[in-house]
Amino acid sequence: MHNEYEAHPYHFCIDEYSEPDSGDWLVCPKCGLTPKVWVFDNGRSTACGCWRNEYDHFSIHAESILSVHKRTDGKKMTEYDSDELRKNWNHWCQTGEVLFENAGNRTDGRW
Ligand SMILES: [Zn+2]
Repeated sequence: MHNEYEAHPYHFCIDEYSEPDSGDWLVCPKCGLTPKVWVFDNGRSTACGCWRNEYDHFSIHAESILSVHKRTDGKKMTEYDSDELRKNWNHWCQTGEVLFENAGNRTDGRW
């Protein structure tokens, strides 16, 4: 997935996104911002300065805790990595590779 969004020097996303609580986050190679993040039971995603509008912006994703719960029947919650979003983000910044595609681009039922 390419980042085809226009780069801006500021974030523009819904209020659910906020500054990450912890960890070192690299800057987006396109807009130069560290991302705001939205982590909730059903998803994890980032928002940087690459956007078209408040609702349509570039995002890196990580598997949600409910997705892990569903596919492991709640028996392997250790597979949920609370730091995965940061790792996926930093990996994308360094390599351009997306480690976890958005649910709409997947066939394995994870989200
Ligand atoms: Zn960006």
